[in-house]
Amino acid sequence: MVTSSSEADRGVVADYVVVGAGAMGMAFVDEILSHSDAMVALVERRNRPGGHWNDAYAHVRLHQPSFFYGLNSAQLGSDHIDEVGPNQGLSELASGAEVLAYYDHAMQRRFLPSGRVQFFANTEYRDGMAIVGPSGETFELTARVAVVDASYMKVTVPSTTPPRYEVGDGATVIAPNALASCVNPDGYVIVGAGKTAFDAIMWLLDQQVAPDSIRWVVPRDSWLINRAVTQPDAGFKIGDQLQIIAEADSVESMWLDLESAGQMLRINPDRMPDMYRCATVTEIELEQLRRVTNVIRMGRVRRITQSSIDLDDGSVETTPGTLHVDCTADGLERRPVVPVFDGRRITLQTVRACQQVFSAALIGYIASRTDLNEAAKNELAGVIPHPDTPMDFVSSSMAHIHNVGRWSRDAGVTRWMAEARLNPMGGGGGPDLGLAIAAVAKLEAFLAE
Ligand SMILES: Cc1cc2nc3c(=O)[nH]c(=O)nc-3n(C[C@H](O)[C@H](O)[C@H](O)COP(=O)(O)OP(=O)(O)OC[C@H]3O[C@@H](n4cnc5c(N)ncnc54)[C@H](O)[C@@H]3O)c2cc1C
Repeated sequence: MVTSSSEADRGVVADYVVVGAGAMGMAFVDEILSHSDAMVALVERRNRPGGHWNDAYAHVRLHQPSFFYGLNSAQLGSDHIDEVGPNQGLSELASGAEVLAYYDHAMQRRFLPSGRVQFFANTEYRDGMAIVGPSGETFELTARVAVVDASYMKVTVPSTTPPRYEVGDGATVIAPNALASCVNPDGYVIVGAGKTAFDAIMWLLDQQVAPDSIRWVVPRDSWLINRAVTQPDAGFKIGDQLQIIAEADSVESMWLDLESAGQMLRINPDRMPDMYRCATVTEIELEQLRRVTNVIRMGRVRRITQSSIDLDDGSVETTPGTLHVDCTADGLERRPVVPVFDGRRITLQTVRACQQVFSAALIGYIASRTDLNEAAKNELAGVIPHPDTPMDFVSSSMAHIHNVGRWSRDAGVTRWMAEARLNPMGGGGGPDLGLAIAAVAKLEAFLAE
């Protein structure tokens, strides 16, 4: 959007000033459009909506079905079931390009034509001021209702985040974005063990790179969600999950039972994972990842030089011609929990574990409710921080069950849930109450231990 000189002189006043047009900011604004007549000023330092998807590597795809990603008002993709590739037999996953096109479409065909959204691209928000990048022009942005921080989750991707370790002169360390332009190196070292690393390895194998040419630095092993249970008609098999939790004897046996039931996966069945970050894979991907057997388990990388990779627990050799692919950006880091509704500030956070977009949409709906005071709104928006360890699954599952209970006691939220495309659990009546109570009791016992 071009800022007129009158805006620069007088500033802009809107009901909501939303900072960040990533997936969360977009989902919030979409709900405001659907459930209120409020005016929105949406401020984004990038050139277009879509947030971190603008910086992703070319082969990136959603990790969860397109079916429940994006905005409630418009389906992303179709009801297509993939017929080829590692996701075959499962609901389609939008590519990064498709995600960006979807948000551009929403901006051009819904947000701007509504006459209720002003979009300030290339514009930085700082302390009530908008600073337009190219011109350096500044103007005041005033929110009648609230400033919405849609940047609080601080998503980081490798292409915009320097490696978390030292890189010596002459060592070749790249982000996955540069993989396609590198020709025939001595070999590959994938640094990191999250979803970005999985994507890099899958891409290399797909290009017929021999698994022996790939070494993989794995600081921590991870429990992974089986994408088969995140399908539109599977609803995460939440009833089965609660049953397993309720019957488990220990946290460890709970994980093993979740694995036996096909809900959770791990790459190396001989190791008990110490990480859980909601990374999602298919069994086909798992088989492919297992082909890389040269795994370096010596902690985190501290330094890469021309001749060595120095880790917490020792060093291994490398060469200047070896391509080190940095996949260590945090993605979603664990942020301090702050109240979602706090006077004239709304901070978008996750209120259903690992479902940022659903969460932002629900918060948007709750914000639009004029019958609720701040305390009641916060009661419906209990924050569930992003998990990092298997134990965090315990606390986030418990918080999730409590949130579902609160939502089910509010008629408006219940109605919204039933209609929300972004609700991966579907609009059904939710899990059996007795089962939920038994699961909560077990989770509390695990946490007390
Ligand atoms: C590779 C990858 C795949 C993923 N796949 C999935 C998936 O399948 N399903 C899922 O649910 N989640 C997925 N995620 C999680 C992802 O974090 C969320 O889906 C979502 O995209 C997060 O969006 P966001 O709006 O919080 O953050 P961002 O995308 O980072 O958006 C924040 C925006 O705020 C802007 N901004 C920040 N500060 C300012 C400021 N001061 N002024 C102006 N603008 C500002 C930034 O420029 C940015 O555009 C994935 C994440 C990654 C990295």
